[in-house]
Amino acid sequence: MQAFESSLHFAKQKDTKDPLRNFRERFINNQGQIYMDGNSLGLCSKDAKEALYHVIEMWEKHGIDIWSIEDSKYFLYQKVLGEKLAKLIHANNDEVTVMTNTTINIHQGISTFYRPTKERYKILVDDLNFPTDRYAVDSQVKLKGYTVEEAVKVISSQDGRFISEDLIIEGMTDDVALVLLPSVLYRSAQLLDMKRITEEAHKRGIIIGWDLCHSIGVVPHDFQDINPDFAVWCNYKYLSAGPGAIAGFYINKKHFEKEPGLAGWHGNKKETQFKLLNKFDHELSAHGWQTGTQPLFSMAPLEGVLNIFNEAGIKNIRLKSLDITAYLMYLADERLTNYGYAIGNPREDEKRGGHVCLEHEEAYRICQALKDHQVIPDYRESNVIRLAPVALYISYEEVYRLVEILEDIVKNKEYEKYSNKRTLVV
Ligand SMILES: *Cc1c(COP(=O)(O)O)cnc(C)c1O
Repeated sequence: MQAFESSLHFAKQKDTKDPLRNFRERFINNQGQIYMDGNSLGLCSKDAKEALYHVIEMWEKHGIDIWSIEDSKYFLYQKVLGEKLAKLIHANNDEVTVMTNTTINIHQGISTFYRPTKERYKILVDDLNFPTDRYAVDSQVKLKGYTVEEAVKVISSQDGRFISEDLIIEGMTDDVALVLLPSVLYRSAQLLDMKRITEEAHKRGIIIGWDLCHSIGVVPHDFQDINPDFAVWCNYKYLSAGPGAIAGFYINKKHFEKEPGLAGWHGNKKETQFKLLNKFDHELSAHGWQTGTQPLFSMAPLEGVLNIFNEAGIKNIRLKSLDITAYLMYLADERLTNYGYAIGNPREDEKRGGHVCLEHEEAYRICQALKDHQVIPDYRESNVIRLAPVALYISYEEVYRLVEILEDIVKNKEYEKYSNKRTLVV
């Protein structure tokens, strides 16, 4: 355990010693807020903005030729981005591509692998994953003629916070065809042992897909070692690629020969794509799972920001993230527990992602008060304040100030000024 101190001076010292401190200048925070919501929508960076403007200029200047300039860079843009993303998860370059959104990529993964038989027809999920993953799974079993009750096997959390890995493994019975799980739970930040769970699935002949939405860009993964069948993620959270940015898709090379569940002309081999034949001949790489024309403007910011991430190095990002979240927990223990706050995430480094889950029965009103203090938190029903001190742009001093504000809001009962009525996007 790191030795922290509770003074402001200590926070400032940590900042001077932070090897990633200079990356903060690459991100834009015009309003001077303490932006703790990077796990929902990461801040814009200068690099992302420049990359986007560049693509707009190329379109303006070259028209249709945008597809062939710079050695067809933009025609093959998913390859360019896939290679940069592969470094974050230690996958082979051709196992990673970018396309559509996370939800559609789940559909793509499941429709590729889910071939139910009389004996094996269930999809195993947990009950704490983000709802869109469940909606996608439910609709996939229905497409095959099952009811959700018949074919979706749900492993329930015992305490509403965490999922037991043992129960997941116990649930891998002979009737399970496929498992879909989150790497990190979006509310409690629990990081699952992906290697162990993947191995157990494979021992039983079960296909496994991972949703990396809450770990990509903050937790390094070693996919050469974990060896999952497929994975999906969004790029707008920790990776800061912009609202609605193109999502990520990984497929293990051992499956390249499999036919994509959802096929389209951009998944065809590049050499024959413009022969426009009626027979689909898919490229034998993750890019074979592409469907239609890639949205360049949803991709360019990702190129810009991935340059920052690869310069910083995902392992260094994880080191700071673990340290700064531990610091936040330390200050919360020191100053906030007397005011009804509790830590709702796992404490062990190997079991937690990049955010701190702070619980309080007045969480909703506290979050509103935080905004008036220029702190951007992330509220999740019913009592969770999610706080993500993103390694590349949050300072230890900001974490110090944040805790001071959290303390004041409850100590001075400031939250009582606010309504509990929810808005459309909480
Ligand atoms: C954020 C998130 C999504 C988002 O899905 P989109 O289709 O990209 O909007 C999906 N699953 C999980 C677990 C998430 O955290």
